[in-house]
Amino acid sequence: MRTVPRIAGLTAPLVLGVAVPSLVAQAPVAPAPAAQVTAIRAGRLLDPETGTIANNQVILIEAGKFGQIGPNVAIPRGAEVIDLSELTVLPGPVDSHNHLALTYKKVPENDYYYLTYVMESSPLRAIQAASNGMQMLSAGFTILRDLGNNANYVDTALREAIEQGWLPGPTIINSGLIIGGTGGQFWPTPEMAIDHKIVYPEYLDADTPDEIVKAVRQNALFGAKVIKICVDCKPWGYSVEDMKLFIKEAGRIGLRVAGHVQTVDGARRAIEAGIWSIEHDLGLTDELHKLMAQKGIFRAGTETPITLTGHTNQASYQRTVAGLKNAYENKVLITYSTDADYYIPGKSRGQVAIEFIETWKAAGIPTADILRAMTITGYKVCELEKVRGPIKTGLIADLIAVPGNPLQSIDALRNVQFVMKDGVVFKRNGVMTPEAFFHGGPVNGWSVR
Ligand SMILES: [Zn+2]
Repeated sequence: MRTVPRIAGLTAPLVLGVAVPSLVAQAPVAPAPAAQVTAIRAGRLLDPETGTIANNQVILIEAGKFGQIGPNVAIPRGAEVIDLSELTVLPGPVDSHNHLALTYKKVPENDYYYLTYVMESSPLRAIQAASNGMQMLSAGFTILRDLGNNANYVDTALREAIEQGWLPGPTIINSGLIIGGTGGQFWPTPEMAIDHKIVYPEYLDADTPDEIVKAVRQNALFGAKVIKICVDCKPWGYSVEDMKLFIKEAGRIGLRVAGHVQTVDGARRAIEAGIWSIEHDLGLTDELHKLMAQKGIFRAGTETPITLTGHTNQASYQRTVAGLKNAYENKVLITYSTDADYYIPGKSRGQVAIEFIETWKAAGIPTADILRAMTITGYKVCELEKVRGPIKTGLIADLIAVPGNPLQSIDALRNVQFVMKDGVVFKRNGVMTPEAFFHGGPVNGWSVR
């Protein structure tokens, strides 16, 4: 995981007269019982990189990381053996675009999320986020980019709570507040925006170069791991020069810039500026896909399936399917992304997120490539591929298991029976068993930020 230079927190412990642990950034590795080895017997082990399956593999896990993996690996005496010989083991998928601390609903807000901001407090939304995170993990999503609209830095709090060891959840790359021109994604009234600041804390205003630099630094200070901007939420939007400044300032801190884009002009400017990822497919054309492929810009298209009634319509869906197909054919770096930030009665947050495979199937993308987008490209857009994601010796031990063969039918991912996160079992036999994740304190260190 990338480390972000620390700024605050040096003096307070001295004042209190207590010993000061090192404030050097710690790798957020979750707890694993000392010297305890876990051995997983995998009936089938799927490698999304090559699109192949190896039968009857043994996977050793020690201190939260993958050890030896292979058909003839000796299981150490005293190891806990987990039998997944009837299942296919594979790396966890990534949702490259979600908002865990936002859940708008038919009742009472008629799916109009401006009202959610007004009606639900940051503390309530933080608790919802903790629940949503566990629901996503139960559906197999071990990594997630959480891109704003998360009240007052609730996304940072959630990430820190997971990394410190308070509770289970996906590994989170969070953006803090979305930075945009005044008003963010809304068209607020002056009374509400200026007198009551009701647009906030959902958006951080930055209209000038000075404000852009300041906004990036504020988000970094308050725990953002990626910078999210509104490229064209207003007709004036950000210019190429504005976005280059965002990219430069974020880059100095080690952060990438993700851009919400909803117009062709906005997409063109964002691509020209060299943005890291484009969120949503609204502004993307064949010509722009070609440019994205050339420049290696990630696409988080948030392709809502027609099966999620009320969240798209036939015309948009057809356009979205055609766009995804075109992006695939142009070899764009396509990620699996959902923007699944609403409640659908009868479905968990994770079940809503996995439903998006319907759009990918409709676009005719081969199953192996859907899996690659969900895993390999997802790890890359998060820049985590050398830390976690792939099932490889030395990486942090995250994996899932499903019946059937996801290379034959991607629908196998709807039935995640087993989830391991940081080497700890989160779900077994289709039932969440997260007790080992809960602690009465920050077992990985209070200073993990
Ligand atoms: Zn979104």
